[in-house]
Amino acid sequence: MPERSSDLIENHSAVGMSALIGGIVALCLGLFVFREMYKELAYLLIILGIGAVGYGAYRLTQIRKVPVAKVNCPYCRATNVLTEAPKHDFTCTSCHRLVHVMNGRILEVFQVRCGFCNHLNFYTSKSVGLICEDCDREIPISTADGQMASKAFSTFSRHDDEGFYELALTSAGNKEEEVIATLQKMLALNRNQVKQMLEELPVVLLTGIPKKKAELLSAQLAMHGAVAQINPLASPPGT
Ligand SMILES: [Zn+2]
Ligand SMILES: [Zn+2]
Repeated sequence: MPERSSDLIENHSAVGMSALIGGIVALCLGLFVFREMYKELAYLLIILGIGAVGYGAYRLTQIRKVPVAKVNCPYCRATNVLTEAPKHDFTCTSCHRLVHVMNGRILEVFQVRCGFCNHLNFYTSKSVGLICEDCDREIPISTADGQMASKAFSTFSRHDDEGFYELALTSAGNKEEEVIATLQKMLALNRNQVKQMLEELPVVLLTGIPKKKAELLSAQLAMHGAVAQINPLASPPGT
């Protein structure tokens, strides 16, 4: 199990410093006792003190030798500093999501939006089920054989009293940079992904969202000169 380099460094410095301080105290005490003529006790304290100071110093030098393997979180892109390349799943220090590792490789993360609250969720090929991080409802994800988890869809339709809509971008307008920035935030995509999307208009931005949400996002895009269309979906998404 790879440790966090920062944990190891903390451990070295905590143990090193307390051994150092303890050793110095023992040395001082030894010298004091020596003056008071308890020589055996004095020697014992001095030997202990020297030993502790030496050990403390050794632990402190180990700090520089802590190995460092930098791993980028596939979810939030934060850099996690580990002592070795991860062989097992580990938790990101920044977003606290479990990073899936298989055969020493960090698994690619897929994005899916919750059909109920539109919160962006992530999964990897290791995920067997997915619960929305925001509303705790189950989100259907495609499994290895391309089958959709059907249980979640029945849940979908029960809540489907207002109907679902899709939001399609028909024109990016002439303030492309602003639109790219807006879409990056809206879809949690990176710049290149958004630029690719804009090359083939019209493009469906989101599907299976409530009308209110679609209207809100469409208005946001209109503010930057882009034109989006709201289309009702005949059936819940994915069916
Ligand atoms: Zn993270
Ligand atoms: Zn949700």
